Amino acid sequence: MIMDFKKLFSRKNRKISRPKRPEYQDKDLQPRLPKIRERALTLYDPSQLASGLLSRLPIELRLRIYDDVLGHRKVHVAFEFGPREYRTDKKKEHLEWRWWHCICTWDQTKGYDHSWRIWRDGCRWANLGGDPGPPNGMMGKLKLDFAILLTCRQMYSEAIDILYSTTTFDFDTRQLLCDFSSLVLPQRFALISAIEMKWYFLNLGCSVIPAKDRQLYHDMWAMLARMPNLRHLEIAVIAHECPNPAPADLKEVWLGPLKQLGKMDVFEVLVPQTYATHLSGNEGSDYLPSSNLRNLSVDEGSNFTLIAFPDITTARACFGSSANV
Ligand SMILES: [Zn+2]
Repeated sequence: MIMDFKKLFSRKNRKISRPKRPEYQDKDLQPRLPKIRERALTLYDPSQLASGLLSRLPIELRLRIYDDVLGHRKVHVAFEFGPREYRTDKKKEHLEWRWWHCICTWDQTKGYDHSWRIWRDGCRWANLGGDPGPPNGMMGKLKLDFAILLTCRQMYSEAIDILYSTTTFDFDTRQLLCDFSSLVLPQRFALISAIEMKWYFLNLGCSVIPAKDRQLYHDMWAMLARMPNLRHLEIAVIAHECPNPAPADLKEVWLGPLKQLGKMDVFEVLVPQTYATHLSGNEGSDYLPSSNLRNLSVDEGSNFTLIAFPDITTARACFGSSANV
């Protein structure tokens, strides 16, 4: 029989629409991981390791391969209803809850002051001028190669922990960080070792800080404190310019909850410059010289490093609406 390859790969034969999943269709109801799954993706019985080809490759080498393919990237993650990246111009568009990610390739080391990187990273929207990063950066849309996880159950079982334990997660929203533990298996969530992200907490910049926001902010730090393998944490807290005079309890509200966390390999808290002047005891100076923005002293023996970045107003003046606020 002669195979008609032209017909086989023709557009008509290609399944272009994703199968509809009812629980992903409701815009107002974010899907959760099902309580009962049809079967586990991982293998628990070593006797099930049946692949002859894989057994000829020592586990050390297999792990190195997984590590090379999946490990040690900083990854932007989003989970949204109809993410813009998947939208088409068609009227009858099939919208649903979907994951989106890309590897962070935005070059944050060259050409820009460290403190600007909060506003500079344009990986997702790529609407800022700047260096998209080398090579194959494609304006930051480099993807993790998940295909290796789909090769077979053995490879999935061996590689999946590397993905969670070595990735630096940049969650698109703080809501996603809070929900992530209900979107992946608890043992995977517990493996996370590194998070770098922005928290928009505009109400923490009110003259009287609302109790609800204060509690939420506290609870978010408490959640991080409960993550058993967290070793690298970089959180930028974003609020409008600090009121003048600053609230009397500003320092306690902003920095008090951090005491819940222990020492880590990297623990950096980034705050707008107008807050940094108060939190580091530099009241009276309207701005800190750029050489002074890192390692601001807070309290003796504190478990984190305080870093300042330009305020929203300054960022707007430089980047317009690109600052995403
Ligand atoms: Zn990035």
